[in-house]
Amino acid sequence: MNIYISADIEGVSGVVHSEHTSRDGKEHDYARLLMTEEVNACIVGALEVGAKRVVVNDSHGTMRNIYHEKLHPKSELILGSPKKLAMMEGISSEFDAALFIGYHTKMGQNGILNHTFNGKIVKSIEINGIEFGEFGLNALVAGYFNVPVIFVSGCNLAIKEAEECIPNINHSIVKQTINRTTALNLHPVEARELIKEGTKKAILHYEQIKPFSIEPPYTVKVEFLHTGLADVVEILPFVKRIEPLTISFNSNDIIECYRLIRSSIMLGGSAG
Ligand SMILES: [Zn+2]
Repeated sequence: MNIYISADIEGVSGVVHSEHTSRDGKEHDYARLLMTEEVNACIVGALEVGAKRVVVNDSHGTMRNIYHEKLHPKSELILGSPKKLAMMEGISSEFDAALFIGYHTKMGQNGILNHTFNGKIVKSIEINGIEFGEFGLNALVAGYFNVPVIFVSGCNLAIKEAEECIPNINHSIVKQTINRTTALNLHPVEARELIKEGTKKAILHYEQIKPFSIEPPYTVKVEFLHTGLADVVEILPFVKRIEPLTISFNSNDIIECYRLIRSSIMLGGSAG
C-alpha cells in the first residue's frame, strides 16, 4: 500500500502564531520540529498497518520545513518549491490514500491561523459557487487521481471544515481554537499518539472513503484582499475581472483550475 502525506504547519499542536510559521520567526525552528514529529507519528502509524511506501510532501510556505534527518527513515520527502501541484506535488494514481497533517481553516473563518494559500493575498476561492479552503482544494486534486483523503489533523474547526467535504473522514483534533492566534493545545506527545492511532484506523478502513470530486465544467472565482492584487492578475488572458476584488475563469479540468489558482496568487504577489 502506498501512502501520500501532505504536511502543513498551522494545524500542528503548539503552533499558534506567525513567529512559529514565518521563515524568519523566532520560534519557527521549534515549530518545524513539532511539525516533523507529527508527520513522523503519521508515518509510524502507516507503517505499523502495512504501508509499503510513504511519501511526504512538505506543504508549508517555502516548503522547506521538515527536518529531513529527523524524519522516519522509511519515508521519502518532497522538499522545496516551486512545485506545479504545490501542497499536492507528487500525488498520483499510484497512491492508495492521502493523509493531511497540520491543516487549518480557510481565510475569514474562525480557526487558528486561518488563511487560504496566502493570508496577504487571498480573501476567498470558489469553484462552482462553493467556497473551498486548502483542505477542499487539495482533496479535489487527490480526487482527480482517484485517491481518497482518509485522515486530517488540525484544530477542532479545521476538522469541521474537512468534514463539510468528506463527512466520514478520520481525524485527530490536536488543539481547540480560542481565536486566530490562541489555542488550547494537547501536549505534543499526546498529539502524536492521537495522530498515530488515527492514521492506523484510517488506513485499515481506507476503502470506506471515496475520492472527493465535483462535477465539471468548473467556474472558479478568486477574491483578493485589495484591488491592486486583482489589477495584476487581470493581465492574464484567461481571466475575467468580474468585481473590483474578484477574477474568474473557466475550465473543465480540476488540475488546470488548481494550477491557475496557484499561478494567480503567485502573480498577485508581485503587486506593489
Ligand atoms: Zn501553512
